[in-house]
Parts: sequence; structure tokens; C-alpha cells
Amino acid sequence: MDRSTIASHPHIWWSNSIFFVSVHLAALVGMYCLPPTLVSWPTLALTYAMWQLAEFGITIGYHRLWSHRAFRASMGVRFVLALLGSAGFQGSIKWWCLRHRLHHRFTDDPIHDPYAATRGLLHSHMGWIFFKPTYTRMELVDRDDLDRDPVVRFQHKYYIPLALFFGFAVPPLIGALWNDALGAFVWAGLVSRLAVWHCTFFVNSLAHWDGLQPFSDENTSRGNFLLAVLTSGEGNHNFHHAFPHDYRSGPWIHTWDPSKWVILLLHQFGLVYGLRQARDEDYKEALAYMNHKSLGGEPPLKEYANEEQDSPRKSVGNTYQHWSVAATKLYVREHSERCFLLLNGWVVDVTPYLGEHPGGASLLRRYAIRPGEDDEADAHTWLDASWAFDGGLNNHSRAAVKRMRELRVAKIELPEDAGLACVQE
Ligand SMILES: [Zn+2]
Ligand SMILES: [Zn+2]
Repeated sequence: MDRSTIASHPHIWWSNSIFFVSVHLAALVGMYCLPPTLVSWPTLALTYAMWQLAEFGITIGYHRLWSHRAFRASMGVRFVLALLGSAGFQGSIKWWCLRHRLHHRFTDDPIHDPYAATRGLLHSHMGWIFFKPTYTRMELVDRDDLDRDPVVRFQHKYYIPLALFFGFAVPPLIGALWNDALGAFVWAGLVSRLAVWHCTFFVNSLAHWDGLQPFSDENTSRGNFLLAVLTSGEGNHNFHHAFPHDYRSGPWIHTWDPSKWVILLLHQFGLVYGLRQARDEDYKEALAYMNHKSLGGEPPLKEYANEEQDSPRKSVGNTYQHWSVAATKLYVREHSERCFLLLNGWVVDVTPYLGEHPGGASLLRRYAIRPGEDDEADAHTWLDASWAFDGGLNNHSRAAVKRMRELRVAKIELPEDAGLACVQE
């Protein structure tokens, strides 16, 4: 299917569209018949609580835990987050995460980014959910971790009854405690669903449209304080796109990020662990680079990728060794526990990066150098990751390019006719 076909004739997702519009109409009618002045304080408090809890299910669970693996969580925490996220009515964890991973891998691409900001504010906000396009690159998105998680599998299977129960049945059941089941249904059920929806959607629309870009201008993502307040911290979107595996939405203690505060609280109780964050040197370098750029010049990448500080496996002096295929194989065999790639003529040890790779470790391992018996044959069959890295599979960030330079081990000298297998999807 070519680009124009996908863009001009996507199928309308009727069931989703009808449900989405109906909830809006019902909420509007409800608010008209039952304005806030006629609603009791406990019901309004419940409305706020149901909004925030579902929002946390999305931001902490769907987004930071499952989409980006920014931390790990006990089964109990995962289960609670899955239920809270269901109440956000944004699809199952699996459905949501796969599309979000596409968004990060192909940010702003009008075809491959499900909510590409380049297609306009309305499309990125909610227009995209009215359609059911075929995402031709979905196959490239790592889903093994989602399929392995029993909580994700359970929630995917029972998503609709869970969403209906926690989104629309629980509020009136709680409201009945103070004899306001109807008010709780309208406000904590219908109206708070709209709040969760549109606040999340703002991250895809406004946070790619208005705000600051202190960490990167490689895509449209921006940091917006007002949005951060509305979205439990997710509005600091420019940092997030630059360092998506970070459990925080900003590097500073004063960054407005209630989702981070909850994660830290859970961490104190030992309920979540393995919190991942960007290296200080990386985010400071990104800030310095952008600052330099804002002052009128684009510094060359090498200025910020200090080759002198590279890995200890690097050769003597300031130059890299040049390895033959045989020497490369010997080194790879001696370090069989590590993962090496061929990237633009370099042997790169990506082992320290496996856990950080937004596309998942398994994708990197797919490209790993596997030494065989025959040098000449190896040189023809090793996979060259260059095409994938240089935009074929993903728009890799400047920070990722810098990191790959740091992880270089040696320059490889291939036979004239080597012609590495350049894997194209
Ligand atoms: Zn984004
Ligand atoms: Zn994200």
C-alpha cells in the first residue's frame, strides 16, 4: 500500500467513533441537566479522584512502565495500574503501547506515526482515533515484553468489561454511599472520562505544538508547563522524546511531575524497582547543544562526542585500531557475552545500551555479529545495521548517534567485495 493510499483512504473506525461521540454527548447533556452547582462536594471530589487515578494508570502504567520500560514493578502494582488504565478508556495496554512505540520510532512521520503532529492539531489530538489505518511498520515494533506479561495479556482479553466496570459502574456504586449515584455517574463517570481523554490527547497535540525545546529540536515535541499540570507531568514532552526510557519527565527536582513522585513513593516501599534515567552527561550535553544552537550556531556533533573518553577496549592513543574480519571474529568470540554490531564501518559494542534501546534489546541482538567458520562467508552474511540505524527503521536521535560513537570498538576493514547483508524491512 503506498503512502497516498493510506493517507487518503483510511477506514473509518465506526464502533470507536460512535462510542467516542456518544460519551461526549451524554456528558454534555448530563452537565446541562446536572450543573456543578447542583452536585454535592463528595461527588465533585470523586470526579477529581477518578480522573487522576485513571490518568496515573495511563501515565505511570501504560506510558512509562509498559511503553518505555522505564522501571519495573511488582505483579500487584502492575495489576492495579492495569485496572486504573482501563478506566481511562484508551484501549488495552497492548493496543496503546504498540501505537505509542510507533509514535516514538517514527515521530512526525505522516504515515507511520499514528498521531503525527505534522498532520495538524486536530488529527494529532483526536482525529486519528476515528480511523483504522494499516500500520505497515507495526511489525517492526517490539512486542515480546508485552506478550510475556500475564497482566498485559489478562487486561487485553478483558479490556472492555474492565473499562466499562471501572469507568462507568464504579463511580455510581461509590456515589450511592452518599445517595448520589446519578450525579457520580454523570460527573465521575462521563465527565471525568472526557478529562482523562483530552488531557492525554493534549500530550499528542499541544505538547507537539506549543512550548519549549530545551533538549532537542529533532522533532516537534515540546515542554509545556500548563500541560504538565494537566497531565500528571507528561507535558514536559521535549525531555521525554529526547530520553524516552527515563522514568521522569525532566531531570530536575523541581520539574512538575506527579507521576514521578508516585513512582518514587512506590520505590520507597519496594513495590517498583530498576528505575532508569538518562545519564547526567547526556542531558547536560543536550542542553548545551541546544543552548549553543539558540545562540546562533549548530555545533558539529564531534564537538560533543568526545572520542577521547571512549571505551577502554579502544586502541592505543587517540586512534582506533583497524580490524580485519578475522580479528573482529576473534574479539567477538573472546567476548561472547557481549553484543557487537557493525555500524557504518565500525564495530560497536552495544552491550551497555541494550537496556536503554527504545526499540528493545531483541532488535539490537538481531543485528549482532555472529562469527562463523569462514572469514569470507562471514563478511558476506553479517548484518550491517547501518541502514536500520540511519533512518531505515527509526529516526535515531542525535543523543543515540552520540552514544553509538562512544561505544565504538574498532574500525573494520572488509574485503573489497564484502557487501554486507544490509537488512531492510
Ligand atoms: Zn510525542
Ligand atoms: Zn512516550
